[in-house]
Amino acid sequence: MSVTLNDQSKIPVIGFGTGTAFYGRDCANSIKLAIECGFTHLDGAQIYANEQFLGAGIRAAGKARSELYIVTKLKMPSGAAQVKASLVESLQKLGVEYVDLFLIHSPRPLAPEDNLPKLWQAMEAVHAEGLAKSIGVSNFTVDDLMAIVPGAKTIPSVNQIELHPYVWKAAEPIVKFCLEHGITPASYGGLTPLVRAAGGPVDEVLPPIVERLSKANNKPVTSAQVLGKWILQKGAIIVTTSSKENRIREYLETAKVPDLEAEEIEAIDAAAAPFHKRVFMRQVFGE
Ligand code: NDP
Repeated sequence: MSVTLNDQSKIPVIGFGTGTAFYGRDCANSIKLAIECGFTHLDGAQIYANEQFLGAGIRAAGKARSELYIVTKLKMPSGAAQVKASLVESLQKLGVEYVDLFLIHSPRPLAPEDNLPKLWQAMEAVHAEGLAKSIGVSNFTVDDLMAIVPGAKTIPSVNQIELHPYVWKAAEPIVKFCLEHGITPASYGGLTPLVRAAGGPVDEVLPPIVERLSKANNKPVTSAQVLGKWILQKGAIIVTTSSKENRIREYLETAKVPDLEAEEIEAIDAAAAPFHKRVFMRQVFGE
């Protein structure tokens, strides 16, 4: 299942990440396994220091390049003058001729001589050359997006941000801005209520939803899938990851799970509202 970006290309709604637990590590076997299980959207980044292993996993899986959706992100602070050279280096490490999506990893820190419009123009140039089929951003606030959108030749296709119930109050204006401007929000850290903030108030709301959806689905639905559906129904796509085959298969089923009802989404939001928990990129967003 995929969504159409503002440049008319299609992005699979769930991606497999190579950051966090795979940071700096040989993740080739996990990538191969994820592709064999059915993931086609693979999320890399220059800062993860493992693009060569992402490339090795892709080659080991043996799937046609045209069937894969490969993402990488510009390491910050890279200056506008370095954008093309750094993407070419990524392409060499990945062993591909283009990436499907190239993101500015974060709006800060910027190279001293740069500003966001200048950096975005360099992104537009690699897009025009075909080295990146789509371009976008990550960890951009509304103000950061406003710095580039009005003057952009190409509007960012994606803004990848931390998105789960415990940051929803802070993320909602960004998601709303993105959706109003044709920018697809992508979520990372989506399993935080289960993984990094277990014991939080959303724990009590999930079991009745899991029970109702399992009956409606005629097969067990998991809390991770409910959180995935919450993300999709907020209008975002998902980037997750796992080293375990059972979870990889579970994540891939997420989009097929029946929809949460509006009252169930409201119950999750209401439970989470008093309990803010941001895990990543505090240097950009603060707490
Ligand atoms: P999630 O919040 O989806 O968490 C996935 C992690 O949760 C895996 O490491 C998995 O471990 C673990 N997990 C899942 N279920 C459970 C469970 N029941 N108990 C314990 N652990 C569990 O995604 P991440 O935040 O880790 O990030 C996903 C991807 O997003 C990254 O790899 C990266 O590509 C991208 N990302 C982008 C950022 C950005 O700044 N743009 C920042 C952070 C991430 P296990 O292997 O044991 O299954």
